[in-house]
Amino acid sequence: MENNLVETLSMFELPEAGRPPRPSWDEYFMEMAGVVAKRSTCLRRQVGAVLVKDRHILATGYNGAPRGLENCLAIGVCLRQELKIPSGERQEFCRGSHAEQNALTQAAYHGVKISGATLYCTHMPCVTCAKMVINAGITRIVFQNFYPDDLAVQMLNESQIELVLFAGNKSK
Ligand SMILES: [Zn+2]
Ligand SMILES: [Zn+2]
Repeated sequence: MENNLVETLSMFELPEAGRPPRPSWDEYFMEMAGVVAKRSTCLRRQVGAVLVKDRHILATGYNGAPRGLENCLAIGVCLRQELKIPSGERQEFCRGSHAEQNALTQAAYHGVKISGATLYCTHMPCVTCAKMVINAGITRIVFQNFYPDDLAVQMLNESQIELVLFAGNKSK
């Protein structure tokens, strides 16, 4: 009886060749940033951020309105979209704050020390987030998509932060 069960179960085992490759740490946390982004309430772009230190998640954030407040998705309208404001401009017209800012403030809310952490984000930080990330003591940023913000690139390059464009298979 027991042998039959083992035989039956073995039929469900994936052949070695069919097993998906084990993700690197960067892939692992980058994919999580993508999952976090799904909670976004922005009508335009879904962004996710994950703060990691010693392979441990410290905080997460997605772009959306402050805790307990109405968000653009629920209201069904965002002033930036209404006014056709180009990407990266007039952020103050939106109710939401950026994923990176929400990750930083979530760490503050829970009293978690984030200096020396790596920021995984689906998009490169804008200049406002970049300034906060620099002052928060983040030492490495791994991002997947470019964001049109020249000053952010300039300031991040000036900082000591290691900036990594995620290529899918880099590991550390
Ligand atoms: Zn909005
Ligand atoms: Zn930003």
